[in-house]
Amino acid sequence: ERHNHRHVWTPEKFRKTMPGRKRNAHKGNHGRGLVVGGNVEMPGSIAMTVSAALRTGAGLVTAATAKDIIPTVSSYCTEATYLTLNDTDGYLDGSNAIPFENFDAMVLGMGLGRHLEAGELVQQAIEAQLPLIVDADGLYHLKAMLHQVKQRKEPVVLTPHPGEMAMLLGISVPELLQSPFSYTKSFAENYHVYVVLKGMFTIITTPEGIQTVSEAGNQGLAKGGTGDVLSGITLAMLMQEQTVPDALNNACFVHGKSAELLTETNHSVYDLTASDVITGIKAVYRTFQ
Ligand code: AMP
Ligand code: MG
Repeated sequence: ERHNHRHVWTPEKFRKTMPGRKRNAHKGNHGRGLVVGGNVEMPGSIAMTVSAALRTGAGLVTAATAKDIIPTVSSYCTEATYLTLNDTDGYLDGSNAIPFENFDAMVLGMGLGRHLEAGELVQQAIEAQLPLIVDADGLYHLKAMLHQVKQRKEPVVLTPHPGEMAMLLGISVPELLQSPFSYTKSFAENYHVYVVLKGMFTIITTPEGIQTVSEAGNQGLAKGGTGDVLSGITLAMLMQEQTVPDALNNACFVHGKSAELLTETNHSVYDLTASDVITGIKAVYRTFQ
């Protein structure tokens, strides 16, 4: 499927719809975000998500993770706060009652793991009343809960790469890539979810089946951790006075544009890391503010 007849998100659109920040703002105006995930073998995942959310303008960000992971997150990102969740050998289980009511939006799944107990956390998140972003291993657990997702009142945003989207659809990646627009459109409509299908071009689909394309970014992003960064940027955008489709398009724009600006200046597509993408967010904002 060609996409050039579709609606492509432009720098002008970003400038028009990017989050505002009033002179008299306080941190509560910019959202209290919750990030749930991480395991002993992937402590950096949640650290990057938290840091990216703060750099994108989130007011407060709390990392809910296993005790042993907190030092990693806090050394990477000083500004976060924490909820310690119970774990078994460094993998989260579902035995905590998370105070979801204290947060404006949450993102779940990076470094979560595919063990059975983590599914209980995903189940709790679906039942909670706040906008929910699900990424990575969270998507794996969500597959069995899609019919419940459909009943949810608050928005649900899924951010799969093609492998994860194919898993959700029960098809192969080559099949998905033959008609990514139509597969994601019927999926989003069927389960009333927003889908951000990531890749060289990213396709953003609303539950009503409206689709836009993000062309921002480059092959420097083809590296571990960049998806975790996008999740954090998305969390921050969702909490900052925009419509959900604008927030998703702007998140992909900031993520991709950060990579572009960095590789035009002091980086290359070879050396760019996910952490660099977080550092590059400031240049995107300074260019467009
Ligand atoms: P993940 O696979 O979850 O780590 O996410 C990777 C992120 O990097 C997504 O936001 C992709 O859209 C982006 N990305 C990966 N490869 C490319 C590429 N070749 N060109 C543009 N963006 C890319
Ligand atoms: Mg990922």
